[in-house]
Amino acid sequence: MTCADKIIPYSPCVGDCTRCPAKHRAVIYGPVQSRRRGRSLGVNLFPLKKVCSFDCIYCLRGRTIVKIDRPDISQVQVNIDQVINILKDVLNKIETDTVDLSGNGEPTLYPYLEELCSELRKLCDEYGVKSLGIFTNSSTLKYENILRALRYVDHIEAKLDVSLEEKFKIINRPCETIKFKDVIEGLMKARKNLNSELAIQILLLRYITDKGELIVNYSEDDAYNMANILQKIEPDIVNIYTVYRPVLTSYKIEKPDIELMRTYSKILENAGLKVRLFIE
Ligand code: SF4
Repeated sequence: MTCADKIIPYSPCVGDCTRCPAKHRAVIYGPVQSRRRGRSLGVNLFPLKKVCSFDCIYCLRGRTIVKIDRPDISQVQVNIDQVINILKDVLNKIETDTVDLSGNGEPTLYPYLEELCSELRKLCDEYGVKSLGIFTNSSTLKYENILRALRYVDHIEAKLDVSLEEKFKIINRPCETIKFKDVIEGLMKARKNLNSELAIQILLLRYITDKGELIVNYSEDDAYNMANILQKIEPDIVNIYTVYRPVLTSYKIEKPDIELMRTYSKILENAGLKVRLFIE
C-alpha cells in the first residue's frame, strides 16, 4: 500500500515510497540523511495541507494553511492504520536508523498522537529501528496528553528560536493564544516528566521586513537571554543552525555571518550547555 494509492491520488505513484515524487507531501518520506538523526524516515501526519500552530517566516513548507493551537479531529488527514501500514511496507524494503515524526506542520497537533506513538514504538522495536523521534515547535508540550504520547519517543527535537516574546511573534508567528512563557513552561515540563533525549533546535537568521527593518535573533543579548532560559530547561543538547534550503515563504531571510553564529554558540557553551553548531 502506498499513500499515493490511498491518500494522495493526485500524486503519480512510483510504487516506492522512498522515491516518492510527492516528497514532503507523502505520508512516509525519505530516507533522508539527516545531520542530526542519521539515515531517517519521516512520518508526515498532514500530507494534504500544512497544519501548524506557528507560521514561521522561514518555513520550508511554505505558509501555514490551517493554524490551530491544539489538536482538532476535523483536521485528520491520515488515520493510524494508514500510517502504520505504509511505514511497515517501507520498512520491509529498506533499513533506517531512525523514524521521525516531522513533515508538513506540527505533528503534536495530530489528535490521536498517543495511540499512534504507541503503535510506532512497537513497529520500531519490531524492525530494530534505533530511535523514534519527533520534531516539534514546542507549543503543545504543556498539555498532559501530549506528554503522555511522547513517553513512547526516544528523541525530542524541540524548536526554540528566540528568547523574547516580541521576537517570537515576529519570527515564529504563533496562534494568538500561544504565549512565549507557555512554550518555556512546556519545555521544562517535558524535561521533568520524560526520559526521552531532549534536543533544543535554534535557527539563527537575519530578516529584513517589508519596511526595510533588520530583525536578528543572534545578538549577544539574544544569546545571554537564551542561555538563561536553557539553563532552566536543561536540554541534553542544543543544535544551532541556519537556513540551508530555500525558504518557501516570500520573506527576505538571510544567513547570519558565520563568526556571529560562532559567538552565539560560544556564549551558550560558556553557560555550561552542550552545543552543536551547523554552519551550512
Ligand atoms: S513550526 Fe515548523 S512547520 Fe510550523 S511554521 Fe514553523 S517551521 Fe514551519
